[in-house]
Amino acid sequence: MSAFSLSSLSARIGWLGACVSLAMLALALLLVDASVRMKASLDWVSRTEQLIHKIDETMADLREAESGQRGFLLTHDRSYARNFDYRTIEATNDTVALAALTRDNPEQHDRAVALQRIVAQKIASLRMPLALGQSGHFAEAIAIVANGHGRNLMDEVARRAGQLRDEERDLLAVRLYAAEQQSAWNRHLPLVGGPTIIALFAVAVVLIIRGVRRPIRSMLRSMRAFGEGDRDARVTDAIGTAEFRALAEAYNAMADRLAAAGSLQAASDADLQRANAELRCNADTLQARSEMIELLGGMSHRMQTARTDAELAAVIACFVPRVLPSVPGALYAHNHSRNLLIRLASWGDLSRAREAFPPEQCWGLRRGQGHYIVEPGTDVICAHVGDPGAVYHCEPLLAGGEVIGLLYLEGVVEAESRFRLAVLTENIASALLNHQLQRGLREQTIRDPLTALFNRRYMEEALAIEIARAAPAGTPLGLVMCDVDHFKRFNDEFGHDAGDIVLRAVATEMTRHFRDGDVVCRYGGEEFTIIAPGAMLPVLLGRVERLRIAIAETSVRHGDRALGAIRMSFGIAMWYPEMDRDGSTLIQRADNALYRAKRAGRDQVMIADEVPALSIAAE
Ligand code: GH3
Ligand code: MG
Ligand code: MG
Repeated sequence: MSAFSLSSLSARIGWLGACVSLAMLALALLLVDASVRMKASLDWVSRTEQLIHKIDETMADLREAESGQRGFLLTHDRSYARNFDYRTIEATNDTVALAALTRDNPEQHDRAVALQRIVAQKIASLRMPLALGQSGHFAEAIAIVANGHGRNLMDEVARRAGQLRDEERDLLAVRLYAAEQQSAWNRHLPLVGGPTIIALFAVAVVLIIRGVRRPIRSMLRSMRAFGEGDRDARVTDAIGTAEFRALAEAYNAMADRLAAAGSLQAASDADLQRANAELRCNADTLQARSEMIELLGGMSHRMQTARTDAELAAVIACFVPRVLPSVPGALYAHNHSRNLLIRLASWGDLSRAREAFPPEQCWGLRRGQGHYIVEPGTDVICAHVGDPGAVYHCEPLLAGGEVIGLLYLEGVVEAESRFRLAVLTENIASALLNHQLQRGLREQTIRDPLTALFNRRYMEEALAIEIARAAPAGTPLGLVMCDVDHFKRFNDEFGHDAGDIVLRAVATEMTRHFRDGDVVCRYGGEEFTIIAPGAMLPVLLGRVERLRIAIAETSVRHGDRALGAIRMSFGIAMWYPEMDRDGSTLIQRADNALYRAKRAGRDQVMIADEVPALSIAAE
């Protein structure tokens, strides 16, 4: 209980207050007691004096009474005995008072009672001679006085009174000493008790102040440290009292919560900063991607509008190094028969990119997915690369679920460039497909499906273009119109399919006999046209002649049946720069020449007769 009580500051203050109060109460009680004792001592002194006074009065009264009796008996003068009764009564009363005054001291009381008795005897011994004298018997009375009995009694009275007085005086001395002691004690008590209580109070105050100041200092220290950022600062010193312990525990709990909140805050700040950094990084990435997408968009747009393979290759060779800087590479596309990959374009400092290779030489094409060697020896090397130490990347170009080409890159495509590569391959694949489709469509519109020769519409356009080109160049141009002789017969005899076979055979021979720059067309039915820009008539004539013979020698079969010899008639018309630029006139002239060849018996070549003499002479 006391331990519990003293562990609390308020209990300590209470206890200290109680102690000081008790000390003050004790001091007050001691002072009261001292004062009571002092009063008692003084009472004793006063009573002793009273008692001694009474003894002296008794003795004086007795002597007065004896002296009056003696005077009366000797002189017979009654006036001497006038105060006798009064004195004896006084003496008796005094002895009664002495007995009463000594009642609390048995020894003195016994002495007082004995004195009272002997005084009574003395008074009686005085009264008898007095009475004899009053009755006139003076002699008898004197005789009684003279016998000395009265004197003896008086001596006894004096002795006893002296005894009582001496004893009382001794007691007085003792009581005076006690009173003096008491007085000294009474003087010392406040002198000692007061400062003692003050000292006690001061000690109590000092203890309380120390008990308050120490924990407050400790708490302030921790709070300041916490406030200055030390999140681990806690009140750890032994804090004496229960109140401060509770305060310290509450403060520590609050500091724990604050520190936890602080670390949470710090963590969320860090998260925020990380998120910000990521956001910035993402924004940069997005910016880079958006620029890349813009670049790829521009490239895609150019590729879509490229009309020829060469244009397409130029666009690719220009843009790919911008999309994938410092990665040399090449673009391959399937050839017509899809048995070879032909290099369309290349860029950068390529070390090993073949012109063409069969698709089965590429693991990327065979697997239909990107094949890359980041480090030599980590994967199989494609046969078209060959070099076992090569670091490269083969990305098949897929469109509509079909492989249409290959993007070959030398070196390593870094992870951050994969996105670009993916978009790039997709773009190139779609452009390539589009290009191929467009080319197909264009071919369809300008080619004759049966013979794959250009059709009549294309021929007319090409003729206009070639004349326009030849005019400023000052070069001639030859036009050949030809027709299969009695073609109807093949149809009639062997069927329409056989007729078609004949037409294809003729077309093949015609293509074989003319140069790349010449335009060989199917004009319609079994009629054909050849535009020969820059051709001189003799050369052209010779070539046509050779063609006529070659066709004649061609043996065509339909199933197991030989279709027989094919004959053809030809009409040649020449155009020279000074002539009319209208192509239809030239066609008409060639047609006329053909008509003449037919009429002249077929299977021959006729030249348009309107050829200017100057030009023929030049030929
Ligand atoms: P000529 O020697 O006078 O030119 O006589 P020909 O029989 O060759 O000429 P004609 O104009 O009488 O007959 C042409 C025939 O060619 C008529 C037509 O049925 C046939 N023909 C036209 N186009 C085709 C074709 O694409 N395939 C086939 N098999 N026959 C065709
Ligand atoms: Mg015809
Ligand atoms: Mg014909």
